[in-house]
Amino acid sequence: MGTKRFETVFDYSKHGVDVGVKCTCGHTARLDPKAISKTCITKGLDTRMPAIKARLKCKACGSRDVECSPVERD
Ligand SMILES: [Zn+2]
Repeated sequence: MGTKRFETVFDYSKHGVDVGVKCTCGHTARLDPKAISKTCITKGLDTRMPAIKARLKCKACGSRDVECSPVERD
């Protein structure tokens, strides 16, 4: 991804990529940054990635030990 920086969820929208989430159990998910942004704005939540990551939970094992990274859209 070169020098692109992904500090907030808005950066994902700006670069046209999805938020890829990977859990230590191997489960992966792909989230729409626009949907996350909307939730953050509606609920007045922090849009920085560490804060977003802290709110995510693996749907497979329930762990909060997940990593977020940009995923190119098909
Ligand atoms: Zn998991």
